[in-house]
Amino acid sequence: MLQAQYPYYLANKAEQPNTDLDVTDKYTGEVATRVAMADTAAINRAIDAATAASEPMAQMPAYERQAVLNHCVRRFEERFEELAMALCIEAGKPIKDARGEVSRLIDTFRIAAEEAVRIGGEVMELEIAPRAKGYSGMYKRVPIGPCSFISPFNFPLNLAAHKIAPAIAAGCPFVLKPASRTPIGALVIGEVLAETNLPPGAFSILPCHRDGADLFTVDDRFKLLSFTGSPDVGWDLKARAGKKPVVLELGGNAACIVDHDTDLDDAVERIIFGAFYQSGQSCIGVQRIMVHDSLYEAFKQRFITATKALVMGDPKDEKTFVGPMISESEARRLDDWIQQAQAAGSTILCGGHRDGAMLDATVLENVPSDCDINTKEAFGPVAVLSSFSDFDQALDAVNNSDFGLQAGIFTRDIYKAQKAWNTLDVGGVVIGDVPSWRVDNMPYGGVKDSGVGREGVRFAIEDMTELRMMVIRTP
Ligand code: NAD
Repeated sequence: MLQAQYPYYLANKAEQPNTDLDVTDKYTGEVATRVAMADTAAINRAIDAATAASEPMAQMPAYERQAVLNHCVRRFEERFEELAMALCIEAGKPIKDARGEVSRLIDTFRIAAEEAVRIGGEVMELEIAPRAKGYSGMYKRVPIGPCSFISPFNFPLNLAAHKIAPAIAAGCPFVLKPASRTPIGALVIGEVLAETNLPPGAFSILPCHRDGADLFTVDDRFKLLSFTGSPDVGWDLKARAGKKPVVLELGGNAACIVDHDTDLDDAVERIIFGAFYQSGQSCIGVQRIMVHDSLYEAFKQRFITATKALVMGDPKDEKTFVGPMISESEARRLDDWIQQAQAAGSTILCGGHRDGAMLDATVLENVPSDCDINTKEAFGPVAVLSSFSDFDQALDAVNNSDFGLQAGIFTRDIYKAQKAWNTLDVGGVVIGDVPSWRVDNMPYGGVKDSGVGREGVRFAIEDMTELRMMVIRTP
């Protein structure tokens, strides 16, 4: 169960000046708990504290940073069910998906604990010309300094973890703003971090209103902005971020190709998961499914049968596969896109019914290519089926998108796999599975409107550190 109220964490300490933010149970709509909100003065204090903590964090030995991360791993394991239920309530996430996210939170901190003690450099050959004779050199990575982090609603724990854990591994202080609709996961991470010996000011976790949130973008004391969320917000923040580097992990409308040599039962099972897990609210959820002509009818029938069999409803129920969307307005937005596609000649093969924030898992076909449900990010339980006869044209169709996060290709042909890897304009290609497949050590991120930069612990550490060279002249 949730606590009655949650403090925020400012310079490593819990503070509860108010309980200004109501956090609702996304299934019942009832207020589940209340959370302290930081004002501009509090955010300013947090940035000051993070700035002062830069040197102590940089000086903290790697084995101590590793110990902090390992402490978190142990505490998250002890609090596993509590964390899963918190996600289930605040995000409406089906309890099985919520447990999956807690497992990934633990993975992310465990990987960061390993990486903390292997941040290295290189000895370089510098005698590349007569004028460099007698010179040698090496470089190492040094922490970039205070980091500004902003995380989204759909993975409240693990997407905060993908910023927090690498920052601790790298030796960077940080201030994180969790999504206002789902702040609890990040605040529990704060509670656990407050048990550690991180230097004073090393971390702050501050839910806040939009006006205060501007400091996370524009303040020059931050040396990095790492944002995960929607493309419109992300690109706007990047334009206003000043000189600091910016990492953007944004949205997508991921596609999946099912070629003629695919095992249908296997593909249907995996694509059902990719399209509808956590009610489709994943940046790499399957939205566009392209099936080879020869399999199309068989795939369609099995896919419809499997979709209709999904249990929808209360996310706390162990059997539930599709829970509510994050809000009624989001479900209404997607419902409108479905109606728009239908008016343009599409067929609703199953689903299409909405009750408040609950939208049935919905499958469409014959969708004109310019419909919103094809071109924009659905971010809900909707999938669009189409067929193809030529594999290269299917690759073109995947690329015919403003987005480029990941793509999934079901093929047993190594040459086609290679071609997909070479030609798809995305951050990652998954062969033999859905684009939604991810583990937390791999480089992860997008191109085009889907963002810039990569997460995945080692790659985030690269963004949070700078190379510092030393040149040695031997007379
Ligand atoms: P959102 O953009 O509405 O909000 C993301 C975060 O930004 C929240 O904390 C929000 O409060 C904050 N925010 C909004 N406006 C701001 C502003 N002007 N200044 C500072 N902060 C601001 O996104 P969301 O609805 O929470 O999340 C869904 C989106 O996130 C989808 O587009 C999804 O694809 C994307 N996403 C991407 C990834 C990825 O790794 N690529 C992962 C998960 C979600």
